[in-house]
Amino acid sequence: MATINEILSLKKERRATILAHNYQIAEVQDVADLVGDSLELSRAAARLDCDVIIFCGVDFMAETAAILSPQKTVVLPARGACCPMAHMITPEQLCDLKSLHPEAAVVCYVNSTAEIKAESDVCCTSANGVEVVASLSEDEVIFVPDRNLAAYVARHTKKKIIPWDGYCYVHDRLTAQDVTTARALHPEAEVLVHPECSPQVIDLADFVYSTAGMGRHANSSSASEFIIGTEIGMIHRLKKENPSKEFYPLSENAICQNMKKTDLDLVLRALQTLEPRVSVPEQIAVRARRSIERMLAVKV
Ligand code: SF4
Repeated sequence: MATINEILSLKKERRATILAHNYQIAEVQDVADLVGDSLELSRAAARLDCDVIIFCGVDFMAETAAILSPQKTVVLPARGACCPMAHMITPEQLCDLKSLHPEAAVVCYVNSTAEIKAESDVCCTSANGVEVVASLSEDEVIFVPDRNLAAYVARHTKKKIIPWDGYCYVHDRLTAQDVTTARALHPEAEVLVHPECSPQVIDLADFVYSTAGMGRHANSSSASEFIIGTEIGMIHRLKKENPSKEFYPLSENAICQNMKKTDLDLVLRALQTLEPRVSVPEQIAVRARRSIERMLAVKV
């Protein structure tokens, strides 16, 4: 409790805002000013009236906030909390792929480094990938780094999608057998899965949503039980917003180790020291910002 009080008073003193991704541990979500997916949080970061953003998430999210809010101090409390998928492609590899497909547009998932965003034409999220691809004039699209999101988008477009072979280990290891087992245990429940899941899991789901979409669906659905196919931290937010409904993880193993690195002690230390700070060199930020802003202009 001492830590929470210290966090709240230091937050005020620093004119700081605490943002927490849906996959953060419950204590961190509960102390945050805003809990959401990476895009919701980055958008919020840009419009917030504050001097400091404590971004409880992983590296690419804090980078995106820094790109959109260059005048604010952005701090990632857990040093080294990274998204392995974002690092599965390098700028050199993307440039090689672009030279193999010179006519193709390049779409990168926001779960990517600032350098990859800078080398792309437009970003997308798990919520708007289909609309972003539809908005392009090109008939060929290089899609990086997530092969599963690429496959999901390819189902909904006639364009040729050229995927990169990256993946989120948390979602990719969910299996069709997990869905069959969970449905047998909870036959009345709706199955909601994230588009980072494999095509085999998506085939068996009732709905495919980003985490923000899962939240909206759970709030509005008449169903009272849900099997949730994403990182386990999402269950905390869903239960909090829908106390009369039941939420079951598709797998208890759907845990992102990097998302779990942040705890209240690190949040407090981040407020005390304003470190580890995240910034993006301006020559990269300016190009990455263009890809993000082009995405934000696409109507969903
Ligand atoms: S859940 Fe997957 S995509 Fe999200 S940060 Fe962890 S590894 Fe990256």
